Amino acid sequence: MTNQILEKIADKNTHVVFCVAPATRVTIGDAYGIHGKNMAGELVSALRKLGADKIFDIAITADFTIMEEAHEFVTRLGECQECLKKQPQAETRRPHKNSMGSELLGRSCVCDTPATLPMFTSCCPAWVGLIKKAHPDLIPNLSTAKSPMRMIGTLIKTYYAEQNNINPENIFTVAVMPCLAKPMELTPGEIDLSITVPQLAQLLREQNIDLPTQSKSDFDNPLGTKSSDGMFFGASGGVMLSALRTAVMHYLKLDMPRITWRKHKSIMGMKTATINLPNTKLRVAIVAGLANAMKLLPLIKSGAEQYHFIEVMACPRGCVSGTGTPPADDTILTQRRKVLKSHRGTQVRLCHDNTKVLRIYDEYLGEPGGHKAHNLLHTTH
Ligand code: SF4
Repeated sequence: MTNQILEKIADKNTHVVFCVAPATRVTIGDAYGIHGKNMAGELVSALRKLGADKIFDIAITADFTIMEEAHEFVTRLGECQECLKKQPQAETRRPHKNSMGSELLGRSCVCDTPATLPMFTSCCPAWVGLIKKAHPDLIPNLSTAKSPMRMIGTLIKTYYAEQNNINPENIFTVAVMPCLAKPMELTPGEIDLSITVPQLAQLLREQNIDLPTQSKSDFDNPLGTKSSDGMFFGASGGVMLSALRTAVMHYLKLDMPRITWRKHKSIMGMKTATINLPNTKLRVAIVAGLANAMKLLPLIKSGAEQYHFIEVMACPRGCVSGTGTPPADDTILTQRRKVLKSHRGTQVRLCHDNTKVLRIYDEYLGEPGGHKAHNLLHTTH
């Protein structure tokens, strides 16, 4: 695998692009005994020394995933743009049903299309794999928005290739992920190779590149600016919080109420919240760990528990504790999470405020959820 990377780097006709996941910047330090430190700057320098032509930050496509997923959620909710435009009177609204025939809590609209809810996040391939194998009837509930890794691969081989007049066939994309399951997502025309954090550390050592002593460099543009919400994608709950903010504030044009999370009464690793919006009480849940998700699914199918939106991550604390990271105890895991959170307040905070993201929509993708964005940034399961 690492030989393939070296061969591509040595081939002068191949444009080699590395893409770095949000959780990689902190977990790579652990491979060198440096804990709780954001090593993004040193990592970018080390990859340049290795011979990468460009190094992009997958946190930016976490913002695109949120833009698309939040749009999809609002559309599924039935507070569709048509209903919002018509401003339906309360008496013409009727209870809305989800695809399993259960009435949604507090939900009413004038649409006749049943909503396929709850919507599940789909950026964790282990979770998507579980649904496909064990609960195929719930496949329609998975968000169709591609994961940030798939989105960056797509944008590199389309938008970036066009902007820079590079034949996409001559681009080789490598993603450095905290995840052993990510190779399940590899799709032609996107990311060519997914390696784990320890595999990258091993490759750098073999090439005598000492990551901790590198000076700091910035990621390359045009895919280099990210929001802090996108950064938090690597921790459990990050996708849900970011998507809710963008759905409520950007698409529904409402103030975001404060969210109070409560532990689920019987399922460990699961938190729930109710968000009071005009006409709708959103029930949302965050689940960490596949065993916990397995306990929840029968409750959803029976209608015993109802939610509009559920985030599931297979690893106990999300990607910061991924199977493709160096071994870590509780203290190290807490430090990793803190590093991803520490970006709040220092950068563009919300995905929908990220001017780089908005510009790429303007210049290239069109409207979120529109024809081109859907073609490029969504998938079928
Ligand atoms: S939660 Fe674990 S399995 Fe899922 S994407 Fe993250 S690292 Fe991979």
